[in-house]
Amino acid sequence: MTRFDLQGGDCDPDVFRVAAHEAGHAIATVLSGLQVLEIKIWWTSRTDFGGFVRTADYDTTDRDLLNGSLTTSMAGHEAEGLWLTRYQNFSSHRAALRTYRASCEHDLRLFREERRLGKALLTETAARARAHSQLIAHWHRVERLVDRLVRTRHLTTV
Ligand SMILES: [Zn+2]
Repeated sequence: MTRFDLQGGDCDPDVFRVAAHEAGHAIATVLSGLQVLEIKIWWTSRTDFGGFVRTADYDTTDRDLLNGSLTTSMAGHEAEGLWLTRYQNFSSHRAALRTYRASCEHDLRLFREERRLGKALLTETAARARAHSQLIAHWHRVERLVDRLVRTRHLTTV
Protein backbone atom coordinates (compact mmCIF):
# COMPACT_ATOMS: atom_id res chain seq x y z
CA MET A 1 0.00 0.00 0.00
CA THR A 2 1.25 3.45 -0.87
CA ARG A 3 0.19 6.81 0.42
CA PHE A 4 0.98 9.94 -1.55
CA ASP A 5 0.98 12.67 1.05
CA LEU A 6 1.00 16.41 0.87
CA GLN A 7 1.56 18.22 4.14
CA GLY A 8 0.84 21.82 4.96
CA GLY A 9 3.54 24.31 5.70
CA ASP A 10 4.08 27.96 5.07
CA CYS A 11 2.52 27.99 1.62
CA ASP A 12 -0.97 29.17 0.82
CA PRO A 13 -3.49 26.55 1.90
CA ASP A 14 -5.48 26.72 -1.27
CA VAL A 15 -7.88 23.85 -1.04
CA PHE A 16 -8.25 23.62 -4.82
CA ARG A 17 -4.51 23.33 -5.24
CA VAL A 18 -4.41 20.47 -2.72
CA ALA A 19 -7.40 18.83 -4.38
CA ALA A 20 -5.76 19.14 -7.81
CA HIS A 21 -2.57 17.56 -6.45
CA GLU A 22 -4.41 14.55 -5.04
CA ALA A 23 -6.70 14.27 -8.08
CA GLY A 24 -3.58 14.13 -10.27
CA HIS A 25 -2.22 11.20 -8.26
CA ALA A 26 -5.59 9.44 -8.40
CA ILE A 27 -6.21 9.84 -12.13
CA ALA A 28 -2.66 8.73 -12.98
CA THR A 29 -3.12 5.73 -10.69
CA VAL A 30 -6.18 4.60 -12.60
CA LEU A 31 -4.53 5.27 -15.98
CA SER A 32 -1.59 3.12 -14.88
CA GLY A 33 -3.84 0.14 -14.18
CA LEU A 34 -3.45 0.51 -10.42
CA GLN A 35 -6.19 0.80 -7.84
CA VAL A 36 -7.15 3.79 -5.72
CA LEU A 37 -8.44 2.80 -2.28
CA GLU A 38 -9.03 6.22 -0.79
CA ILE A 39 -8.52 9.95 -1.39
CA LYS A 40 -8.72 12.51 1.36
CA ILE A 41 -8.10 16.23 1.69
CA TRP A 42 -8.40 18.44 4.75
CA TRP A 43 -7.80 22.03 5.73
CA THR A 44 -8.34 23.40 9.20
CA SER A 45 -6.05 26.42 9.12
CA ARG A 46 -3.37 28.15 7.04
CA THR A 47 -0.80 25.73 8.40
CA ASP A 48 -2.86 22.59 8.86
CA PHE A 49 -4.02 21.27 5.51
CA GLY A 50 -3.12 18.46 3.20
CA GLY A 51 -4.31 15.31 1.55
CA PHE A 52 -3.41 11.84 0.47
CA VAL A 53 -4.22 9.13 -2.02
CA ARG A 54 -3.99 5.56 -0.78
CA THR A 55 -3.41 2.92 -3.44
CA ALA A 56 -3.55 -0.88 -3.38
CA ASP A 57 -0.42 -3.01 -3.41
CA TYR A 58 0.60 -4.26 -6.82
CA ASP A 59 3.07 -6.70 -8.38
CA THR A 60 6.34 -4.78 -8.26
CA THR A 61 8.04 -7.34 -10.51
CA ASP A 62 5.80 -6.06 -13.32
CA ARG A 63 7.88 -3.33 -14.97
CA ASP A 64 4.88 -1.62 -16.59
CA LEU A 65 3.06 -1.35 -13.27
CA LEU A 66 6.22 -0.13 -11.58
CA ASN A 67 6.67 2.56 -14.23
CA GLY A 68 2.97 3.38 -13.82
CA SER A 69 3.45 3.83 -10.12
CA LEU A 70 6.50 6.04 -10.69
CA THR A 71 4.41 8.17 -13.05
CA THR A 72 1.68 8.34 -10.43
CA SER A 73 4.18 9.62 -7.86
CA MET A 74 4.99 12.61 -10.06
CA ALA A 75 1.39 13.26 -11.14
CA GLY A 76 0.41 15.14 -7.96
CA HIS A 77 2.93 17.91 -8.39
CA GLU A 78 2.34 18.02 -12.15
CA ALA A 79 -1.43 18.37 -11.69
CA GLU A 80 -0.85 21.10 -9.14
CA GLY A 81 1.30 22.97 -11.67
CA LEU A 82 -1.32 22.61 -14.39
CA TRP A 83 -4.05 23.84 -12.04
CA LEU A 84 -2.05 26.86 -10.90
CA THR A 85 -1.15 27.81 -14.47
CA ARG A 86 -4.79 27.59 -15.52
CA TYR A 87 -6.53 29.17 -12.53
CA GLN A 88 -4.10 31.09 -10.36
CA ASN A 89 -2.23 33.25 -12.82
CA PHE A 90 1.13 31.56 -12.71
CA SER A 91 3.13 32.64 -15.74
CA SER A 92 4.30 29.11 -16.47
CA HIS A 93 3.95 25.54 -15.37
CA ARG A 94 7.63 25.55 -14.43
CA ALA A 95 7.19 28.61 -12.19
CA ALA A 96 4.22 26.98 -10.45
CA LEU A 97 6.16 23.77 -9.85
CA ARG A 98 9.10 25.71 -8.46
CA THR A 99 6.92 27.74 -6.06
CA TYR A 100 5.29 24.62 -4.65
CA ARG A 101 8.34 22.37 -4.79
CA ALA A 102 7.85 21.47 -1.09
CA SER A 103 4.58 19.75 -1.84
CA CYS A 104 6.33 17.00 -3.78
CA GLU A 105 9.13 16.18 -1.34
CA HIS A 106 7.29 13.21 0.11
CA ASP A 107 6.39 12.03 -3.40
CA LEU A 108 10.01 12.32 -4.52
CA ARG A 109 11.16 10.19 -1.60
CA LEU A 110 8.61 7.53 -2.56
CA PHE A 111 9.69 7.80 -6.18
CA ARG A 112 13.34 7.19 -5.29
CA GLU A 113 12.53 4.25 -3.02
CA GLU A 114 10.30 2.64 -5.61
CA ARG A 115 12.79 3.20 -8.42
CA ARG A 116 15.26 0.94 -6.58
CA LEU A 117 12.85 -1.99 -7.01
CA GLY A 118 13.65 -2.49 -10.69
CA LYS A 119 16.11 -1.86 -13.45
CA ALA A 120 16.01 0.67 -16.31
CA LEU A 121 12.89 2.34 -14.94
CA LEU A 122 11.62 5.83 -15.80
CA THR A 123 13.76 8.73 -14.62
CA GLU A 124 12.12 11.56 -12.70
CA THR A 125 12.09 13.70 -15.85
CA ALA A 126 10.54 10.90 -17.93
CA ALA A 127 7.94 10.08 -15.26
CA ARG A 128 7.02 13.76 -14.99
CA ALA A 129 6.68 14.06 -18.76
CA ARG A 130 4.46 10.98 -18.86
CA ALA A 131 2.31 12.23 -15.98
CA HIS A 132 2.06 15.65 -17.62
CA SER A 133 0.76 14.32 -20.94
CA GLN A 134 -1.62 11.88 -19.25
CA LEU A 135 -3.07 14.69 -17.16
CA ILE A 136 -3.52 16.99 -20.14
CA ALA A 137 -5.23 14.21 -22.10
CA HIS A 138 -7.55 13.45 -19.16
CA TRP A 139 -7.85 16.94 -17.70
CA HIS A 140 -11.67 16.82 -17.66
CA ARG A 141 -11.42 13.85 -15.25
CA VAL A 142 -9.01 15.77 -13.02
CA GLU A 143 -11.43 18.71 -12.93
CA ARG A 144 -14.39 16.49 -12.07
CA LEU A 145 -12.45 14.81 -9.29
CA VAL A 146 -11.27 18.15 -7.86
CA ASP A 147 -14.88 19.26 -7.74
CA ARG A 148 -16.00 16.10 -5.92
CA LEU A 149 -13.04 16.23 -3.53
CA VAL A 150 -13.60 19.85 -2.55
CA ARG A 151 -17.25 19.08 -1.81
CA THR A 152 -16.85 15.76 0.02
CA ARG A 153 -13.18 15.83 1.17
CA HIS A 154 -13.11 12.03 1.24
CA LEU A 155 -13.67 9.57 -1.61
CA THR A 156 -13.26 5.85 -2.04
CA THR A 157 -13.96 5.79 -5.78
CA VAL A 158 -12.44 7.75 -8.65
ZN1 LIG B 1 1.69 14.09 -3.68
